[in-house]
Amino acid sequence: MTPSRTRSSYRRRRAVVIGAGLTGMLAAAALAEVADEVDVIERDTLPTGPRPRQGLPQAHHAHLLWSGAARAIEALLPGITDLWTAAGARRIPLPTGLVSMSAADWLPRWPEMQFVLACSRDRLDSVVRGRDLAHPVITVHEQADLLGLTGTARRVCGVRVRARDRTETTLDADLVVDASGRGSRAPRWLAALGVPAVREDAVDSGLAYASSFFRAPAGSEQLPIVNVQSDPRRPVPGRTATIVPVEGARWLVTLSGTRGGQPTGSADAFADFARLLVRHPIVGDLIPRAEPLTDVRISHSTVNRRRFHEKLATLEGFLVLGDAVAPYNPLYGHGMSVAAQSAHALRDTLRAYGLATHGLARRVQKATAHRVGTAWDLAAGQDILYPGASGSATVERTGPHGG
Ligand SMILES: Cc1cc2nc3c(=O)[nH]c(=O)nc-3n(C[C@H](O)[C@H](O)[C@H](O)COP(=O)(O)OP(=O)(O)OC[C@H]3O[C@@H](n4cnc5c(N)ncnc54)[C@H](O)[C@@H]3O)c2cc1C
Repeated sequence: MTPSRTRSSYRRRRAVVIGAGLTGMLAAAALAEVADEVDVIERDTLPTGPRPRQGLPQAHHAHLLWSGAARAIEALLPGITDLWTAAGARRIPLPTGLVSMSAADWLPRWPEMQFVLACSRDRLDSVVRGRDLAHPVITVHEQADLLGLTGTARRVCGVRVRARDRTETTLDADLVVDASGRGSRAPRWLAALGVPAVREDAVDSGLAYASSFFRAPAGSEQLPIVNVQSDPRRPVPGRTATIVPVEGARWLVTLSGTRGGQPTGSADAFADFARLLVRHPIVGDLIPRAEPLTDVRISHSTVNRRRFHEKLATLEGFLVLGDAVAPYNPLYGHGMSVAAQSAHALRDTLRAYGLATHGLARRVQKATAHRVGTAWDLAAGQDILYPGASGSATVERTGPHGG
């Protein structure tokens, strides 16, 4: 229950979010319903509009937002889907708008059952950010570095921040949400307060991504997503190739390969990889029809990692969401879905219990754990099959009643 606030007992409620990526911005939107202030601490300089930024290097690679994630974000930010499509995102029906060779065979192109939103990640994030920045309760502190947490081993009370002008400040908060992504330093911040280390599992298939933007050939405006997947049952490195039509009449072409079969950053070898090394040459045959617009960019940020923050049974005031709790191999395309569903769970819990309720962070961390667990099972369970994969796919299943 939300505690009633009489005039004499009123205290301003503040939440701090670490990271202004997609998870951070969605968490901020959820928190803005119940907090008087939501302060988002972001290390990066945020561009106005859909421009690349240092803190989001994965934006150079194909990002698909599945309908489940789009619906969860729409529930948090009503009208966002229209804003995305007005900004050039394509709503592509599934499986109708997908030409895809799965591990088994070509997928049938049945009438729409689900959809994806196809646009660049910079565009996707800039629209969400624009909505949040217009909210009177949300303040984003750019070029601000998080130095650590304040509090004790049982309760996080706020954060220490170095601001853009190098001054150091402390922000007290009812709740601190870590949404600082794959490189989260939460284990270190918590250790400094004396909090016991959380268990961490990892599975690494050695996957590398290579991507480049192309100008789409004239007349290809309605091109479906074209994708050739690997087959983890075959004892060879898994290689894939995908064309995602994005805003600005461009194709974002992404190749991937697991250990022993990675693509390189060579523009000359790009189409050949898709034509000769992937299970079917369709993507490689299409690439020469388009004009390259960028260099080939590589990403090795593909290790599946899971930190079991939900097992910290007694810690109050601190919540970890998005890639900060579990980044996955991006090939499965569900990082943003888990982030969106987790922010949705945060909103529902805040609506039910308010911001300053005892046990709030634990409640949300547990509510999100089964979503994280499902995504982990899929990604880690498959990746461990590829030659040279390291880690262990044995996971603690966290079903709806588990965790
Ligand atoms: C190559 C690639 C392709 C992908 N494709 C897909 C896809 O198709 N579909 C999908 O759903 N997912 C995909 N993903 C996953 C998706 O990118 C992530 O799940 C998503 O970005 C997670 O968002 P986040 O906000 O948790 O983290 P991030 O996007 O990493 O944002 C973290 C933010 O925190 C900031 N930050 C970091 N440290 C600090 C600090 N100490 N202080 C202050 N700020 C800090 C960063 O600057 C950044 O702004 C892909 C990932 C990769 C690498």
